[in-house]
Amino acid sequence: MARSYSSRKRVLVTGGAGFLGSHLCDRLIADGHEVICADNFYTGDKSNIAHLLKNERFELLRHDVTFPLFVEVDEIYNLACPASPIHYQHDPVQTTKTSVHGAINMLGLAKRLKVKILQASTSEVYGDPSVHPQTEDYWGNVNPIGPRSCYDEGKRCAETLFFDYHRQLGLQIKVARIFNTYGPRMHIADGRVVSNFIVQALRGEPITLYGDGEQTRSFCYVDDLIEGLVRLMDSPDEVTGPINIGNPVEFSMASLAALVIAATGSKSEVSYAPLPADDPRQRKPDITRARDILGWEPTVPLEDGLRRTIEEFRGRI
Ligand code: NAD
Ligand code: UDP
Ligand code: UDP
Repeated sequence: MARSYSSRKRVLVTGGAGFLGSHLCDRLIADGHEVICADNFYTGDKSNIAHLLKNERFELLRHDVTFPLFVEVDEIYNLACPASPIHYQHDPVQTTKTSVHGAINMLGLAKRLKVKILQASTSEVYGDPSVHPQTEDYWGNVNPIGPRSCYDEGKRCAETLFFDYHRQLGLQIKVARIFNTYGPRMHIADGRVVSNFIVQALRGEPITLYGDGEQTRSFCYVDDLIEGLVRLMDSPDEVTGPINIGNPVEFSMASLAALVIAATGSKSEVSYAPLPADDPRQRKPDITRARDILGWEPTVPLEDGLRRTIEEFRGRI
């Protein structure tokens, strides 16, 4: 859908060549906007946005957000940051720099342009939570010096910067705390549980369950997540968040393995491996705020989302 120039926005998406970012670019283009996608391809892939390159409303910039960026836009979605534990722990110093220096640069850009900026924060700010399900007013239980800290503390510091730019300089901010999200275009070697299990099941390899498999996560299908982010960006000015965006239906990793085996019809067996350090025991969002403020809740059950994701993975494996 092309829009009239008056209602068309030019939107910057950092991390736009990644899993979530590329789906967000698709959505914004479909809504008739112009998109500038800025990505350094650390974990993103050109194939995720290849289909957009011919669109005259889409522009791709190879750019690392730890460096200043001067563009003219009407809105900023800041998604740049590796999200999978194996990737964000590969170069932990760069991970913290991406979250912190990246936030400073994108906030500086938003300040100069006087435009709204949305931060892709994470349920990891709650760490290994002692409050269950997690509400936005829970401050979290995060190890500041462990292997996950580069990601968790980087994202916490980014939230601090967002709220200080808001209070001190009057910036319009939107902070989304995203819970585990899955779907088509997850990197095959991403290392996150849904993509690992699907790849292993499709290849007939053992399904690697870490620990006893009783730890829980709540999985949101990517289309639901993107709808939540767009609604948050479009919410009234006084809505800053943080707002949990995720699917509140909780599963153990053992039950996820069983679902993936059933949905793929795979003969793979489950194999056990040690639980990684600081792996949260349980995670489930309280989405009361998202329901009340954004009128948003997930619509795709895990079984359906897995089926769609498996279909797309079959085409790549
Ligand atoms: P992803 O790794 O697929 O995408 C991240 C993108 O950011 C990649 O394209 C990568 O190349 C890019 N990037 C990394 N460092 C950069 C830098 N310094 N400069 C420019 N680009 C850079 O991960 P994703 O799942 O799409 O996650 C997107 C965002 O959502 C991340 O900020 C992540 O922390 C957040 N998030 C995701 C989930 C999830 O379950 N997918 C959950 C919570 C939060
Ligand atoms: N910045 C940017 N693009 C802009 C404006 C600023 O990347 O259009 C960067 C700038 O380089 C600075 C950061 O954003 O490092 C923070 O900007 P701010 O104005 O808040 O701080 P200051 O420049 O005063 O340090
Ligand atoms: N996990 C697993 N096998 C895998 C990958 C992950 O059992 O092959 C577990 C992991 O230990 C964690 C859960 O699945 O308890 C979710 O892991 P993921 O890396 O997807 O996300 P996060 O831990 O960041 O929520």
